[in-house]
Amino acid sequence: MPILCPICENDDKIQKVSSVYLSGISFGHYEGPATSSGTTVSSTSLAKTLSPPLAPKKPSIPFYFYLGLVMFVGGIGFCLSTVLPTMLTQNITKINDLEGFILFTLCCAVIPIIFGIVTIFRGIVTKQKQVESYPGLLATYNKDLEGWNRQYYCHRDDAIFDPTTGEVWQFKKTS
Ligand SMILES: [Zn+2]
Repeated sequence: MPILCPICENDDKIQKVSSVYLSGISFGHYEGPATSSGTTVSSTSLAKTLSPPLAPKKPSIPFYFYLGLVMFVGGIGFCLSTVLPTMLTQNITKINDLEGFILFTLCCAVIPIIFGIVTIFRGIVTKQKQVESYPGLLATYNKDLEGWNRQYYCHRDDAIFDPTTGEVWQFKKTS
């Protein structure tokens, strides 16, 4: 049985959505009867409109995790190299500029370490959430992609249809 457009019930102007998309991508424009059918969809945006679903992003550690790691390691390193030796070798009450020393320690060690821990933790939680939602997103994507591979486009009606499910999507016309 031939595949027919459910609107005009013809097969002379239909084309697989995937091949319309690919031709639009490889030539940068689409030449077809679509422009003469009084539709709003232009050559290049047609391929865009018919583009396949976007694959979900794979779970990954966000970049700020590494920033947190650097700050944490830096803060610890600063503690070990400067703050701790100063506190061990000098009588803390005799440090010339105690306020300055405390402020320095806060800015260069305490704050980076706290910021680092919070950021590292956030990064791990974020990735864990992505790991949990990824299978669902992937299943939806695969289903959408299967559907996209089944779809046809009718240039006469400016419509997409799925011959398997009988679904039809028609682009809005301005006039
Ligand atoms: Zn049609």
